[in-house]
Amino acid sequence: MHRIYENNDIVVFWNSEKCFHSRRCVTASPLTFDPMRKPWIDVTKDKNSNIWQAIESCPSGALSCTYRHDIDVKMDETNLRSVAYDGDKEIGECDYSSEGSVISIYHTGVDPAYEGKGIAKRLVYTILEYAERNKMEVNATCSYAKKLIADNKSNCLHGGEA
Ligand code: SF4
Repeated sequence: MHRIYENNDIVVFWNSEKCFHSRRCVTASPLTFDPMRKPWIDVTKDKNSNIWQAIESCPSGALSCTYRHDIDVKMDETNLRSVAYDGDKEIGECDYSSEGSVISIYHTGVDPAYEGKGIAKRLVYTILEYAERNKMEVNATCSYAKKLIADNKSNCLHGGEA
């Protein structure tokens, strides 16, 4: 499961396939990470510095974070894509085809002037979350999306300790 959470300044990504519930994030920022709440991550409850610190404490790589850079990322279901906007200007998109309950991502592109801001990851995660919420399968021919989807293995070096 892939989820994306935003506040005015930061974007947090969570990949449940990598999470082994060590709860380090919960200890570091209980206001943000609360397993008893739905959704269990809320990035509006604590200071960004605390959230960032909690993400850095995650031993599995399930959590990651980037600055928002005032860029909005939205689904555009009509045109089978997610789109990134700087104000009114489109600066990136992730395109997919859809057949039955299967989505296939075939292109992810970001204006070179905006590279290095985590926008491609936001575009792909937005589609992954959309697909998962609608109980659809996702595959990809786009090499970037393919790598992100395949990246479900834990990076844990701590033997799963709490
Ligand atoms: S693996 Fe990471 S995201 Fe999962 S509970 Fe532990 S610290 Fe939190």
